[in-house]
Amino acid sequence: MRTILLGAPGAGKGSVAKLLTEFDGSVQISTGDILRAAVQEGTKLGKKAKEYMERGDLVPDSIIMEIIEVRLQEPDCKNGFILDGFPRTIAQAQELKQIIDRLNIRLDLVVNLEAPLDVLLERLETRRTCSNPSCQEIYNIKRNPPADGGKCKKCDSPVIQRADETKEAICNRLETYNSKTAPLIDFYQKEGLLKNILSLTLPETIAAIKKELNSLNKH
Ligand code: AMP
Repeated sequence: MRTILLGAPGAGKGSVAKLLTEFDGSVQISTGDILRAAVQEGTKLGKKAKEYMERGDLVPDSIIMEIIEVRLQEPDCKNGFILDGFPRTIAQAQELKQIIDRLNIRLDLVVNLEAPLDVLLERLETRRTCSNPSCQEIYNIKRNPPADGGKCKKCDSPVIQRADETKEAICNRLETYNSKTAPLIDFYQKEGLLKNILSLTLPETIAAIKKELNSLNKH
């Protein structure tokens, strides 16, 4: 399946995407993970993106589109993909449409993960992420803590708080989401692809998305 996950920071896109990949062999494409890995590795891309990310601002569309255009043509996308954190602006969505047309594929579903503001804030403040650029497993200090010593259960690397999870950056990310990304809900509604799904507990959210995907398969 070819799916987009929309939702505010803290809506659960990363956790949901990781579980959905196990469902049908689709690959998770998280522009945030790609950018964080580039920042940690100090690549040219990372140097360009770092300041935007730390402030909680969006990285310019041109940089993001270059990443996506290349990534969508890699062989592992053949079985489908789950776009997590992309697109984030109307311009990105419009360009994605053109890329998808050029590649002769189509999107199956756009899921908008919804959660109340107090839930988003609590999740962002308690979220921790594996510092290994090729792992980036997500933890929560209350509900899903890392292993003893703050180590990742998958790769044993230190689990850290993201640089953009300070109070100031979180507020900026939520404002940026409201002004630049939330309009995508209407965009994909008009495209006839949108499904709103409540994102409170992970098992319920995954079950609701699987139900949608299964009903698409039957048509
Ligand atoms: P995320 O992990 O999806 O929350 O992304 C972390 C940060 O990476 C965001 O706050 C942005 O600075 C940047 N970023 C990730 N995806 C995009 C995108 N599609 N467009 C612009 N900036 C992005």
